[in-house]
Amino acid sequence: MAGILRFSSSNSSLPLKQLSNYPRIPSFSNFLHPPKLCFSHFRCIAMATSSSSTKNPSSATTFQVPELAADEMERMAEQTFQRYSSNTIKRKGTGTAIVWFRYDLRVLDNEALYKAWVSSESVLPVYCLDPRHFQSTHFFGFPKTGALRAQFLVECLADLRKNLTKRGLNLVIRHGKPEEILPALAKQFSAHTIYAQKETCSEELRVEKLVSRALEKISLTTTMMASSSAPKNPTLRLVWGSTMYHKDDLPFDARSVPDVYTEFRKSVEAKSRIRQCVKLPMSLAPLPPVAVEDWGSIPTVDGLGLQPQQVSKGMRFEGGESAAIGRVHEYFWQKDLLCVYKETRNGMLGSDYSTKFSPWLASGCISPRFIHDEVKRYEMERLANASTYWVLFELLWRDYFRFISIRHGNSIFQLGGPRRVEKRWSQDQKLFESWRDGCTGYPLIDANMKELSATGFMSNRGRQIVCSFLVRDMGIDWRMGAEWFETCLLDYDPCSNYGNWTYGAGVGNDPREDRYFSIPKQAQTYDAEGEYVSYWLPQLQNLPKESRNFPGKSYINQVVPLKFGGKPNYKSHAQATTYNGRQQQQNSRGGRATRGNKRWN
Ligand code: FAD
Repeated sequence: MAGILRFSSSNSSLPLKQLSNYPRIPSFSNFLHPPKLCFSHFRCIAMATSSSSTKNPSSATTFQVPELAADEMERMAEQTFQRYSSNTIKRKGTGTAIVWFRYDLRVLDNEALYKAWVSSESVLPVYCLDPRHFQSTHFFGFPKTGALRAQFLVECLADLRKNLTKRGLNLVIRHGKPEEILPALAKQFSAHTIYAQKETCSEELRVEKLVSRALEKISLTTTMMASSSAPKNPTLRLVWGSTMYHKDDLPFDARSVPDVYTEFRKSVEAKSRIRQCVKLPMSLAPLPPVAVEDWGSIPTVDGLGLQPQQVSKGMRFEGGESAAIGRVHEYFWQKDLLCVYKETRNGMLGSDYSTKFSPWLASGCISPRFIHDEVKRYEMERLANASTYWVLFELLWRDYFRFISIRHGNSIFQLGGPRRVEKRWSQDQKLFESWRDGCTGYPLIDANMKELSATGFMSNRGRQIVCSFLVRDMGIDWRMGAEWFETCLLDYDPCSNYGNWTYGAGVGNDPREDRYFSIPKQAQTYDAEGEYVSYWLPQLQNLPKESRNFPGKSYINQVVPLKFGGKPNYKSHAQATTYNGRQQQQNSRGGRATRGNKRWN
């Protein structure tokens, strides 16, 4: 393997002094309690130092994620598909089944595709570009999908079509509502069943209901159906597939998932197991006997009603399953970064401090079970340590927020959160805009917000810091921040986004999670030399390193003082609040999808 070859003696014999100069090491979250390092761990760190994008980037650098060349990515995807294919699976069904792709834009380990294939003689894959995804966010009317996520989606669809075509299928792409498109296609192709991945939040559940209802109105002649005893209308079958642990394998009902993450994790780790990825044959042909006249073209960003945006700085993620598999290969096997993940994960700059799997996980280009399999393979073939475990630990947070959305329903979108906390919040537009646009006067906040707008990504550390600043230092309604993240994030997923925001705002399901992030402390710990802030705010580059996060009068005025000090160069905006008590009451009862928009003006 290329990665093993790169464990050359010259790398592994890097002097310790040089290892300790590795820029991220001193700023790790556990720097006070450094992990015990074994020899192979040092080799891992040596590998991490040799990774190009972990070195100090110049301010104009753009990082492709993954960095692999297109042909290498394709080769990796092909090898992986081969590894996860099986020719012993028997097809037991008759007629045609539709696979409705939603947030599972992949071929590998796709349970809906698997079930459709097994239960039919032919499969028709379909994706609907739902216009509701391109409207406005619920309360504050921001664009529901920003241009960068739309571009990512376009690339995901192109790659999905390519991978399905290689396996003897194709992808129907239609603009419109699933509840209108799917019944029409079911009728046209006499499909007895539509398989799709089950979702958990209100907007997605509502569409599931509408599709089911619309299918009830379609009647197929009995000869079209799988068997004479089958119902006369096509049915929607929803399949669980978004989490690492299957919902049915939890040691408790998902509706009573523990409110404290550690309790959830310990219980799941002790009593549940992670299922194997499902395998399919390499060929999934044939397509339905009725010819598809118009497969539909891959959309463009302007075709979706958005102004295209180029990434000219920071990370540029490539959408699609092939890129996702390529990134796993690159991060685990080629750059060997998995074995230092626990130490590097709190970084903010470059592409290699963390896995960057989240955009592909959110659109379902990759399954968490596949990542789990790869971690286990790495542990067998290279090494197992706290870092290899920690990636699974983080993926379990993702599972957790997914199950929390089942337990707490729409309360995760409401002001009081799952605990229905009553608190006064401001909706001051000027303050919010200064946060959104990265003009607060705090370099650490501004750099993170600029990165979000320019790339659609922000590190986990950054997200926690800007969330804390918005809700605790500015006192702004947390939903404004959450909805802005909904617009911008490539990895936007309602469960993880609103789950984390309710946590950050102190209204989450876990009453113990109520943390304030002190900006001076975060800056000193995670960006001591101001590398990150000066990358995004080049005007700070000429300042001494230790002043870049604390530039005083050399930078714009601070819009609010910090709640717990620091040395703010304070010139406040008018602090008029637009808080309206009645509005809060109304919102906290309202469902996300069913209530009229409470817009912020
Ligand atoms: P890594 O550190 O490499 O972690 C591996 C994977 O574990 C991630 O890809 C992700 O799937 C999962 N994970 C890690 N941390 C979390 C977490 N706190 N919650 C849930 N899953 C986690 N993540 C999203 O995927 N979508 C969101 O919309 C989202 N919104 C967030 C909003 C706020 C305010 C905060 C504080 C966090 C949010 N996160 C969200 C979680 C986390 O910040 C990202 O998952 C992570 O930064 C993605 O980078 P990565 O893939 O390199 O993560």
